[in-house]
Amino acid sequence: MTILHNIPTDELQRIDAAHHVHPFSDNAELARDGARIITRAEGVFLYDSDGNKILDGMAGLWCTNIGYGRNELADAAYEQMKQLPYYNTFFKTSHPPIIALSQKLAEIAPGDLNHVFYASGGSEANDTNIRLVRHYWAAKGKPTKKVIISRHNAYHGSTMGGASLGGMKGMHAQGGLPIPDMAYIDQPNWYAEGGETTPEDFGLERARQLEAKIAELGEDNVAAFIAEPVQGAGGVIVPPSTYWPEIQRICDAHDILLIADEVICGFGRTGNWFGSETYGITPDIMTIAKGLSSGYQPIGGSILSDEVAQTIADAGDFNHGYTYGGHPVGAAVALENIRILQDEKIVENVRDVTGPYLAQKWAQLADHPLVGEAVISGFMASVALTPDKSARAPFSTPVGTVGTICRNFCFDGGLVMRHVGDRMIIAPPLVLTIAEIDILMEHAVEALDKTHAHLKAQGMMVAG
Ligand SMILES: *Cc1c(COP(=O)(O)O)cnc(C)c1O
Repeated sequence: MTILHNIPTDELQRIDAAHHVHPFSDNAELARDGARIITRAEGVFLYDSDGNKILDGMAGLWCTNIGYGRNELADAAYEQMKQLPYYNTFFKTSHPPIIALSQKLAEIAPGDLNHVFYASGGSEANDTNIRLVRHYWAAKGKPTKKVIISRHNAYHGSTMGGASLGGMKGMHAQGGLPIPDMAYIDQPNWYAEGGETTPEDFGLERARQLEAKIAELGEDNVAAFIAEPVQGAGGVIVPPSTYWPEIQRICDAHDILLIADEVICGFGRTGNWFGSETYGITPDIMTIAKGLSSGYQPIGGSILSDEVAQTIADAGDFNHGYTYGGHPVGAAVALENIRILQDEKIVENVRDVTGPYLAQKWAQLADHPLVGEAVISGFMASVALTPDKSARAPFSTPVGTVGTICRNFCFDGGLVMRHVGDRMIIAPPLVLTIAEIDILMEHAVEALDKTHAHLKAQGMMVAG
């Protein structure tokens, strides 16, 4: 075995820093501090190379929905690797795992979303969507319909296309983004941007920015609108109840395609199979990845409506595809993952039992002196940290300073809770039990208390 087992942590950190470039990281800082080395995981717990046990409140990166250590998925991969480890689906070929997975996805996806184009992850799938919606309109004799409207602070991946669809300022600042024919409207983040408006009015206001943007660009130039049902990487921003119905009305009224990026919300995260069901959205295309395989294998894709798929089919060759799109091992693992989600009624359990329990506990965080709001949708939740609750005020320190402090208290206390700026977020495995929810909440409150005490001691409870 050439994998480095039983090597001291500092030696692993040294080799890691010498040869491994980390994503979304300050690699120089990381080289000084040393990476935390995760060596194994079981259920909802991670174990690091120093023997620490950590509750994974982020399900890896929003993906290990069925938790860790499910041997059925390992067996499915092993059997498939022996039977047919790889074959492509480019040149008039197919294989049983991808046929079975496509049928299964058509069965569980809502409405007439019955056709799947595969990728290795969410970014690639969204790249597909860019080319696909423009090709779709060209095929319908409307080649000028090219602009895709997205939202500031959206996350749709890290490829040139995915990051251009996304609205992350820090990403656009590097590498010459966005690509042409992208437009952005503001996010439905009432807490940070709603001012004196009620959440309901604010939701309508933000949705109507889409209608205004379409008018500004001209309907004949707009191909699609893309959004996450609940923004994930942006900080678990749960939109006001008025938002999605208005967005749906506008997309229907103006003949533009609606792409729901379900990479996080899909496969049970919001308490239904798809976030589109939770929020009453009828998309033309859904992006999927992450929970599709519970992260055990890299696989993603775009699920297309009958009409979109038929239009593409009638237009001849679609000159697009990835070597690993429709990978047989990924497909076999995804199928087994979906079987477990279905057989063990994991999604229903989040909807009816553990989700409501977590929601009740999470809501109590709103009473904490450091918390400006606590929001949740199924098994994704966030709290906004503030020095002044009544004013929903930000801190005087640079955004993310306080969030980082709280995140470090979490990690050291045995809980992975991420920060986005000064919001703390969780998205735990969907198999988290009632007893484990209690552990998570205990750790979360402890970290908030420690953060609060630290900020007071440092004179940092100051509004900016
Ligand atoms: C993670 C994510 C992506 C990108 O998926 P990758 O598999 O990392 O390429 C796209 N959209 C959303 C909403 C995501 O959360």
